[in-house]
Amino acid sequence: MDLKVKNDCCAADFMPVGELRAVQLSRLQKIVEHAYNNVEFFRNRMNENGVKPSDIKALEDIQKLPFSKKIDLRDTYPFGLCAVPMSEVVRLHASSGTTGKPIVVAYTKEDLDVWAEVMKRGLAGAGLSEKDIIQIAYGYGLFTGGLGAHYGSEALGATVVPASVGNTQRQVMLMRDFGVTGVCCTPSYFMHLIEQAKLAGIDMRDLPVRVGIFGAEPWSQGMREQLESGSGIEAFDIYGLSEIIGPGVAIECTEHQGMHVFEDHFYPEIIDPDTGEVLPDGEQGELVLTTLSKYAMPMIRYRTRDLTRIIAEPCKCGRTIRRIDRISARSDDMFIIRGVNVFPSQIESALLTVPGVTANYLIILTTEKGMDNIEVNVEMSPEAFSDQVKVLESLQRNITKAVESVIGLRIRVKLVAPQTIARSEGKAKRVLDQRIKG
Ligand code: ADP
Ligand code: ZN
Repeated sequence: MDLKVKNDCCAADFMPVGELRAVQLSRLQKIVEHAYNNVEFFRNRMNENGVKPSDIKALEDIQKLPFSKKIDLRDTYPFGLCAVPMSEVVRLHASSGTTGKPIVVAYTKEDLDVWAEVMKRGLAGAGLSEKDIIQIAYGYGLFTGGLGAHYGSEALGATVVPASVGNTQRQVMLMRDFGVTGVCCTPSYFMHLIEQAKLAGIDMRDLPVRVGIFGAEPWSQGMREQLESGSGIEAFDIYGLSEIIGPGVAIECTEHQGMHVFEDHFYPEIIDPDTGEVLPDGEQGELVLTTLSKYAMPMIRYRTRDLTRIIAEPCKCGRTIRRIDRISARSDDMFIIRGVNVFPSQIESALLTVPGVTANYLIILTTEKGMDNIEVNVEMSPEAFSDQVKVLESLQRNITKAVESVIGLRIRVKLVAPQTIARSEGKAKRVLDQRIKG
């Protein structure tokens, strides 16, 4: 791969592997020392495990370090994991709190530069440049999505439309009137934008928009197909989490075969979630990330609870940074029904294999006669929405069969009319748990 032809900002994506590992090791040594010296929590944990910063002599030595978890952020709320004085902290964010109490994260000026750099590299890898007009329809605020995508797009030199979420009709109008070519938002919100455009008589496929950067929630291949065919864009999966930096930890390139991790800044490992054992590249498990260059709140071996695998084989695009597979599930989202572990993403994948079904669905868990019960409400596409009972019945049967064969449980499927399931502007809420507890 000829580095000269690559945009300068992305050179690190193509670094020879030996060089990359050397960068990682020297950054790891520095950050571990920084965390040990400045964060009581990390110092105590390392002492308990009998490991000192000077024990990190090779990258593999990372395995000697203890894990950290979300609970550690909660226990030290708000600033217990800060490794620099507050005078050096220039920004705070908090997780959107999809699961429980929010957690707080802090950034130095340099941390923000790293964040803008990785986002910029990601957007450039998705084919965006200073010639593009990018609409940011992630929420702006404590949630990292909006500002993360914003500063990355600005760093790229693109024209930024900071639309934030909401006012969907106006979003569509801005896209059309400004000639927006790239959009960053959650995949479920983009689905909503496509529908709203249609209602306003606008076919998104006729607009200049050509790239969608979608993340912050899991989405299936079926959803990708619906988004792309409904809008004519090329959809890119982007992954990130507040604890590590926000969006921009990993993103697809134009090959769409997994997401490249910006591993010169975020060191990935996969572990067996039950035993904590490190698994070889290629095996599915829990993603663990270490921030190699974040100084306000370094995270050492942070257990993300996201399930995926590392793809170490070279990518056709020539990037040497490794990839992770689509996040197959978030362990927080899992629910247990009649003793069986089920992830909403499994249900979504099964649903969307059936023609005429949209990615608007809601899983409702109830208790009936003391038993857990699962009902999936599914919106049909307006085209499939038909009065013919026979057609509907057969659609319902097909959906039931598709889902049951994946999760191995009997379910009830209810077909609902287009536009009846509540739309979300941020992360979609897919499960309504109305079970009687206790
Ligand atoms: P919260 O934990 O409150 O949702 P964040 O906004 O930081 O806080 O969300 C990070 C989480 O969102 C990740 O740990 C992951 O579970 C999910 N996520 C982010 N991007 C993706 C993606 N592209 N695919 C699947 N899940 C994602
Ligand atoms: Zn690639």
